[in-house]
Amino acid sequence: MFRKELKKFKKSGSFYRKMKKEKESFMLIYVWELPIVLIWTKPALLLQVCTGLPSFNSNLMKKSNIPGVAEMFCKPSEVPIHQRNVQVKTTVNMEATRNPDFDLGQNNISDDNSSETDVILNEYCRKKSSETLQQWAIKHNITHQAVKELLSILKNQYNDNDLPMDPRTLLHTPTSTPVIDIPGGQYWHQGLENCLRNAFKDLDRNITIHLNVNVDGLPIHKSSKHQLWPILCNIHQMPNIKPMAVGIFIGKSKPLSVSDYLKPFVEELIPLMSHGILVNGKSIEIKIRCFICDSPARAFLKGVINFNGKDGCLKCTTSGEYSQISRTVVFPNIRCKLRTDEKFRQKEYGKHHREYSPILEIPGVDMVQDFIIADSLHLLELGVMKRCLIGWRDGSLGYAGKLSANQIEKLSKDIQNVKLPSEIHRSMRGLDCLAHWKGVEWRNLLNYVGVVVFRDVLPQNVYNHFLLLFIAVTICSCDIYSKHQQTAQLMFEKYI
Ligand SMILES: [Zn+2]
Repeated sequence: MFRKELKKFKKSGSFYRKMKKEKESFMLIYVWELPIVLIWTKPALLLQVCTGLPSFNSNLMKKSNIPGVAEMFCKPSEVPIHQRNVQVKTTVNMEATRNPDFDLGQNNISDDNSSETDVILNEYCRKKSSETLQQWAIKHNITHQAVKELLSILKNQYNDNDLPMDPRTLLHTPTSTPVIDIPGGQYWHQGLENCLRNAFKDLDRNITIHLNVNVDGLPIHKSSKHQLWPILCNIHQMPNIKPMAVGIFIGKSKPLSVSDYLKPFVEELIPLMSHGILVNGKSIEIKIRCFICDSPARAFLKGVINFNGKDGCLKCTTSGEYSQISRTVVFPNIRCKLRTDEKFRQKEYGKHHREYSPILEIPGVDMVQDFIIADSLHLLELGVMKRCLIGWRDGSLGYAGKLSANQIEKLSKDIQNVKLPSEIHRSMRGLDCLAHWKGVEWRNLLNYVGVVVFRDVLPQNVYNHFLLLFIAVTICSCDIYSKHQQTAQLMFEKYI
């Protein structure tokens, strides 16, 4: 009812929606028989005044003795703080607005104060509604097409001319992206500071954060070689904050030079680590915890030779030998001196070093300890297990261990028929799909299926050899077996 009455005042759609939502903050009062609507808005006690008189005298109102009214005609900053919650206790006479003598046309609203607050309130309402829409669209990943249709519906339905027509305007899509050319492709740097300011908009205390840095390559099309190489950071002690893309490289191969690729990141990171970031008057201290990447990316970031090179071990000084039989590099020595940060920085490791890495400039980073050792996916599942099974199938491991066609068929059937524990959601495919097996299938084969299905097809010595790996991996996979870790180490050594 209130809203209907107020429609006589010529105002925008957002004005009425705002009123409907917060009608408790509205009051229609009569001052000297003039209908006046007083509107409080929550954040700053802005005031909207609508009046029906052509020459409404706000100065007169300021001087009025009606409690609470005088300050309502002042600008918000003029209202004394202790009076900001004053409620106007004036008789509200809704019936009087129906008086036909009052013609509340657009031209009648001409008070200066009124139009000024009008603009402020409309601006506030518009921002609020677009902001809510914007956050909703981003949160639920709504397509631009859908947002466009929604905007058009809202505009038609509510006659809200302040809503943008284009989803890009609503979502503040940047009109241009600063991209730089670097060897091998192009690089876009969003910036760590931008990411952190976004993540800590509401910071209310001083904090220290430890960043995990991840770099990896990911193909974007099946039909082209184009790949993305994002630099991602997440905050170790705040896993609920999503990983942040500090920069992204795109090219037909991985970045050709680690220096050019990491330069913007490192150049931004060093001053941030020494001075921190100030948000809402609170400081964020930044530390690097470690670099988490797969084997090729770790070698790339450190500027050392690849993990399958003879001097490729990131942790120790073992030197590999090339095996003609298995066509792989093998590492016969397993108890070698460990690499150290100091010697790495002095480039004492000869062929291990390949190129200069800007990570050396980041203060406090240990070039050996701060890189993870390996990931089980590449090391065990796609590494050892895949190589073994393909080797047994094709006889390419250099001993008379090739499986016959019948054995392969039986193995394939057994793998598909094994009933897996309830926590495993992906069922196993047969050996005919080996080329398409996912990492998790290799993991299931190593951790659950292999010990059952290999027993009937592998020669006893080969099966026993596999058991060494299976048991050692099982011991290392679970805390319950932690007291047997010494045994696991011996088994790994024997297996190798
Ligand atoms: Zn090693």
